[in-house]
This record gives sequence, C-alpha cells and structure tokens, in this order.
Amino acid sequence: MKPVLYIVIPCYNEEEVLPITAPEFLAKIKELVSLDKIDDKSRVMFVNDGSKDKTWEIIKDLSKQDEHYIGITQSRNRGHQNAVLAGLMESKNLCDITISIDCDGQDDINAMNEMVDAYLDGCEIVYGVRNSRQTDTFFKRFTAESFYKLLNGMGAEVVFNHADYRLVSSRVLDEFANFKEVNLFLRGMFPLVGFKSTSVYYARNERIAGESHYPLSKMLSLAFDGITSLSVKPIRMITGFGIFVAFISLVLLVYSIVQHFLGNTQSGWSSMMVAICFLGGIQLISLGVIGEYVGKTYMETKQRPRYIISERTYEMDNNNEH
Ligand code: UDP
Ligand code: MG
Repeated sequence: MKPVLYIVIPCYNEEEVLPITAPEFLAKIKELVSLDKIDDKSRVMFVNDGSKDKTWEIIKDLSKQDEHYIGITQSRNRGHQNAVLAGLMESKNLCDITISIDCDGQDDINAMNEMVDAYLDGCEIVYGVRNSRQTDTFFKRFTAESFYKLLNGMGAEVVFNHADYRLVSSRVLDEFANFKEVNLFLRGMFPLVGFKSTSVYYARNERIAGESHYPLSKMLSLAFDGITSLSVKPIRMITGFGIFVAFISLVLLVYSIVQHFLGNTQSGWSSMMVAICFLGGIQLISLGVIGEYVGKTYMETKQRPRYIISERTYEMDNNNEH
C-alpha cells in the first residue's frame, strides 16, 4: 500500500506568495504520485493562521480548483508553531505521512522526494536541513548559528540548521499528541519522541515575495522560548553564578578586614558601588529568568487549547476520508 502524504503549510498574510507557491506544491504531489511513491489521496493542506488579508479566500478558491488542495483556518492568529501543530494534528488521522513546510518558497520542495524515500526506507522522522545560508544576511546567519549552539550547549537536542521543514509519520504524530505543552518549540520536541530518524540536506532560497514575519524581536523570543521550554539549565547556571559571586564577595570581605587592621582603611566608596550595582544586576537577571519559568508554568497549568479550527474547506466525516 502506498502512503498517503499531506503537505502541511502554515500561511499568515501570504496573499502575494500563495498563488505562486501553491501550484508548485500541487505539482510535487502529482509528481510523487506519478512516480508511484505516494497514493493519489495525498493532499496539499494549507493552515490559514488568522490572516488579515485574502489568504483564506485564496485557499478556498484553490480547493475548488483541484481536489488535492484542502485548507483549514484558525479562529485567530496564533503564531507559526501553533499553525503547524494544528495542521499536523488535523491530518494525523487522514494520512500516513506529513511534511510541514513554509509557504514562501524558501525551502526547496525537491527535497521532498528524498524525504519520502527515507520514509519508504523505514525512517519515521526526516529532518530537512539547510546546507547553505548564503541567501540569508550575515546577521541572520550569525544569530541563527549562535542560537543552535546555545540550545545544544543547554542540553537540548536540536538538529543543527533544521527549522520546521520535516517529514513525520502519523505513528510519530500519535505519540506527539501526548506532548501537551502550550509553549511549543516543535524542532526541539520531535527529537524527544524518538523513532528512527534521518536528515535530508537542501539549499535555502530567498523568500519569493512579501516579508518575513520574524523580525529580530520575534527571533529572540523564539530563541528564549526554545531554551526555556527545553532546558532548566539557565536556572542552574544562575545558582552556580550566585555561589561564585558570593564566594568572591567573601574573599573581598576578608581582604578589606585585613586591610583595616593593617591600617590601610579603604576609601571604598567606588568599590562598594560597583559591588552593589553588579549584584543588583545579577539579581534582576536571575529574577527575570526564574520569572520566565514561573510564567511558563502558569501558562501550562491553564491547559488552554493550542489551536482552534473555525472552518475547513472539506466536510469532516466519521471515517475522516475526503
Ligand atoms: N506564519 C504563520 N503564522 C505567523 C507567522 C508566520 O503561520 O504568525 C507562517 C508564514 O506564513 C510562513 C511561515 O510561517 O509560511 C514562516 O514565516 P516567515 O517566512 O515569515 O519566517 P522566516 O522564514 O523569515 O523565518
Ligand atoms: Mg520564510
């Protein structure tokens, strides 16, 4: 039996991009079908992430043009990670394999052939990995590389230069459904599921049109979410640093007492100010980091839904086939 593939594509304000890339995804499905690798029930599934432009209208039109196009829409914008999750959870009972990919043409869709081959060879997760970042600016390359290094240094297992372009079998998704966290960092969570996995390399292109939704502030927030959702090491580092600073101040204390008895009374004002400011800074940072974890714990305890699907281009029926 040939596997049914769903290509899951999050879209937020992509009216300029979709008309260009959608036919490419469809052509890829048709190519894989004609190569006899996947079943013709395979679909291109768009997840509209509460776009404010015509994205959802375009998706609905596409679904009328060809039965291979389907779409779901979220009740509001919830962010890239949640949009991907919505698509994956929606498709897991409808297909055997999913490939998540951005809709802006940056990830080379031809890598899908190799991904499907790897699945047919027995891999349950196939990570798409960029082998060059030449089209990114130096700044984006530098920050991205530092980010992966930092993450791995913190003990999280993240595949270097892999974003959210990956093939996942529905078997893995069934297990993944038990990872209930609200703070999503998919690329760090899938390695935790286990199963046989491999990587496929591809060159990353420029965005076809429109603008990145990941300015520096969002990139930093994703990096921070990634670290704090995968590792408690920062808290431990703070404790270690606190002990270190306390130890240094003890040495300083002994030193100044000795100086006092030797009669070299320190004028001491500047050194005291430095110490106070330094410690004040460390304490605030520490509180901030701990606060981040407390805040995340609070958000997790609410167990709010991670996505809400308000409309589909297809009918849901009992055996979920369409
Ligand atoms: N995206 C989304 N919701 C958002 C922001 C982005 O679904 O709130 C989608 C977007 O349409 C695209 C993908 O996530 O398909 C990646 O976004 P983008 O290309 O802007 O990020 P970059 O490639 O610059 O990191
Ligand atoms: Mg992009």
